[in-house]
Amino acid sequence: MATTQQTSFDIIVIGAGPAGLGFARALEGTGLEVALVETQSEEVLASPPEDGRDIALTHTSEAIMREAGMWAHIPADEIGTIRDARVLNGSSPFALHFAARKAGADYLGRIVPNHLIRRAAYEVVRGQQGISLLTESEVVDVATDTARGHVTLKDGRRLDAALIVAADSRFSATRRRMGIAADSTDFGRTVIVCEMRHELGHEDTAYECFHYDRTLAILPMYGLKSSVVVTLPTARAGEVMAMAPEAFAADIAARFDMRLGRMELVTERHAYPLVGVLARRFVANRFALIGDAAVGMHPVTAHGYNLGLSGAALLAGELRKAQSTGREIGDMAALGAYEAAHRRAVLPLYHGTNALVRLFTDDRPPARLLRDAALRLGNFLPPVKSRILRQLTHIESHARQP
Ligand SMILES: Cc1cc2nc3c(=O)[nH]c(=O)nc-3n(C[C@H](O)[C@H](O)[C@H](O)COP(=O)(O)OP(=O)(O)OC[C@H]3O[C@@H](n4cnc5c(N)ncnc54)[C@H](O)[C@@H]3O)c2cc1C
Repeated sequence: MATTQQTSFDIIVIGAGPAGLGFARALEGTGLEVALVETQSEEVLASPPEDGRDIALTHTSEAIMREAGMWAHIPADEIGTIRDARVLNGSSPFALHFAARKAGADYLGRIVPNHLIRRAAYEVVRGQQGISLLTESEVVDVATDTARGHVTLKDGRRLDAALIVAADSRFSATRRRMGIAADSTDFGRTVIVCEMRHELGHEDTAYECFHYDRTLAILPMYGLKSSVVVTLPTARAGEVMAMAPEAFAADIAARFDMRLGRMELVTERHAYPLVGVLARRFVANRFALIGDAAVGMHPVTAHGYNLGLSGAALLAGELRKAQSTGREIGDMAALGAYEAAHRRAVLPLYHGTNALVRLFTDDRPPARLLRDAALRLGNFLPPVKSRILRQLTHIESHARQP
């Protein structure tokens, strides 16, 4: 990877987060000259701090990460396996149960700490030919015309490329500068995430427990460790963050009915306010949105990074097709094909997740009854369950490079 004085590229990617790096990696072997512009320093990209997020990965994401060489950079004893998942509604005896073997798979998905995914993504892009990394560089303006896309950096430098790709988070300033509207939902809730060690084995089972005022998700990591995700009204988050570690751990163990025995906090707690964002369009003239900049998901269904990775693979696949048929990078047909395919994948998950969140965070008695009914129906309506199971365990074809 070169740090460079060059100012003209084939593609400029704004943001070297997991989506931006994943997209750059998916362009490997195309011969395209790609600038990755990122506000953070290279030291932080090389060694990202632990951020409390543990990312549940679908089979498609694992396949993409293996093919990209990222998987080999993640220590084996940091990769957890989710074989079963159960959804519980308060003290109701009905649980929605997803078992990998029902989908003919050995497991539903993997779980890996986010900072290790980011580090692995940097490691594989670092040595990649054609990539120029511009760190500690903030994009402050962007525009496109019929011939090129133009980017201005905070230090006054101007860059241009045939295509600009924005991967600058769900609060993407680039999206706004390009005049692309987005619908956002502020859930009025905050998620607190951390890792905890426990006495008893988790049997590779993930739990999502809807406890009226708060939701508790416990995801099985490697060994006697789980990722803990507490979702609660934002007004109560400060008080939970301020609890002494021992009191917090005892509270989580009790709320989980001591299923894992005694629990101990082993990382910091991190709080994230919950806002879902869906861009009205994913592309414009010589411009595309990927990652959270295209769709920022509520984390309850664990799809944000998975969609970021598959969207990046889709866009790279369309650009490869354009190249192989002699069309230009930035060609609107390729961008349109990406938009259509990614929207088809995103829309049901985005709206389905938001509907689930509304149903399971409504405390009124009719909603509680509806939740019970939904869990029973979910268990007894095979098409609903098999669709979710397929989504997790089926490997999408765009995971493979053409
Ligand atoms: C608590 C939590 C749990 C989650 N769990 C899961 C899960 O289990 N499974 C899953 O698939 N997903 C999960 N996600 C979602 C996942 O973390 C995100 O989808 C993913 O990190 C988004 O990556 P990104 O690269 O699109 O954006 P970001 O990670 O936000 O990166 C954006 C990058 O752009 C840079 N940038 C911004 N503006 C500029 C600018 N003007 N100039 C230059 N650079 C700029 C930033 O510095 C940053 O590096 C979770 C999220 C949260 C909050």
